[in-house]
Amino acid sequence: MNVDVLVAGGGGFIGGHLVSRLVAQGRTVRSVDMKPLDEWHQVHPDAENVVADLSLLDGAMSASRGVGEVYMLAADMGGMGFIENNKAACMLSVLTSTHMLQAARAQGVERYFYSSSACVYPAGLQEDTCVTALKESDAYPAMPEDGYGWEKLFTERMCRHFEEDFGLVTRVARYHNIYGPMGTWQGGREKAPAAICRKIAEAAISGEHEIEIWGDGQQTRSFTWIEDCLLGTELVMNGSSGEPVNVGSSQLVTVNQLVDIVEEIAGITCDRRYQLDAPLGVRGRNSDNALVEQMHGWSPSTLLADGLEITYAWVHDQVKRSLG
Ligand code: NAD
Repeated sequence: MNVDVLVAGGGGFIGGHLVSRLVAQGRTVRSVDMKPLDEWHQVHPDAENVVADLSLLDGAMSASRGVGEVYMLAADMGGMGFIENNKAACMLSVLTSTHMLQAARAQGVERYFYSSSACVYPAGLQEDTCVTALKESDAYPAMPEDGYGWEKLFTERMCRHFEEDFGLVTRVARYHNIYGPMGTWQGGREKAPAAICRKIAEAAISGEHEIEIWGDGQQTRSFTWIEDCLLGTELVMNGSSGEPVNVGSSQLVTVNQLVDIVEEIAGITCDRRYQLDAPLGVRGRNSDNALVEQMHGWSPSTLLADGLEITYAWVHDQVKRSLG
C-alpha cells in the first residue's frame, strides 16, 4: 500500500502527536514502532499502525516501502537519568538511524526528516546558569553529550552526506526539551517537566507536600511545547534548507522556577529536598532561534505556564488512575 508519510517511532511521545496532526491534515500515515501496541502513547485508528524493529534493515525496508516522506523519530532515549546511565543503548540507535536512511534511499523516499537534539552542543558552552543561547554553529568544534549526543551529531552528518552524495532530500531539527501530555511520565525515561508534574501531583493527591529535586534547582533550561514543536517540524521538513536548525523555546527558566509554575497550577506549595548526587546534565541551556526563524519562519509561541497547565492536568489524571 502506498502512504504519504511514515512516522518512525510513532508509538512515542512526539511521534504520537505528529501522527495525530498528519492524519488531521488528511495525509495517509504509516506509524511504526518497536513497542507492542498497548504501550504506544497514542494509537490512531486512521493510521496504518505497525510494530517493527527499525534497527534491522529488513524492518526499515518494509516500513519505508511505498512511502513519500519519512519523519524519523525512533530512538532509544529518555531524560537525563536515562541517557547518563545508558550510553551504549543510546549510541546503538545508530543502527536505526543508518538503516532508515539506507531504506529511504533504496525505496525512493522524496523527503526525510531527522529529529536531532540540543544534546549535540558542547558541554563547555553550557557550564553556567546564565547561558548564552546556543546557535547552530556552536555544535563545532564538537564535544556533544556523551553517548546520546554523539549518535545524534553523527546521524546529522549522515543525513547531510546522503543528500550530497545520493540526492535524498534530508531535513534536520535539533529539538530542545519537548514537553506535553501523552508522553512518558514515570519509569525512569521521563524528562523534567513530566517528572515535576508527577511529583507535585503525587504530593497534591497524598497531602504530603514534600518533593525531591535533582540538583540544586538553579540549573537553567528552556522547554518547548509539543504543538510548537510539531509546527516547527513541519516547517523544517517543507523548507528549502537541509542545514540543522534549533526547534526550541527561548524562555529560560531555572528548575526551581519550573517547580514554582507547577505548584501554582496545582495550588500547593511543597518543601523541596535537593538531591545533589542525581544525574544533572549541563548547568544551563537555551535555544537561539534566529536561524530557524530566518530560514523557516518558525518561532515558538506558547508560554511555559500555558503548556504546563495542560501537561499537569494530564499527568495528574495518570497518577490518580495509577493509584486505582
Ligand atoms: P520517545 O521515546 O517517546 O519515542 C521514541 C520512540 O522510538 C519510542 O516509542 C521507541 O519505542 C521507538 N523506537 C526506538 N527504537 C526503535 C526501533 N529500533 N524500531 C522502532 N521503534 C523504535 O521519544 P520522543 O520524546 O517522542 O522523541 C522522539 C525523537 O525526538 C527521538 O529521536 C529523540 O531523540 C528526539 N528528541 C526528543 C526530545 C524531547 O525532549 N522529547 C529532545 C531532543 C530530541
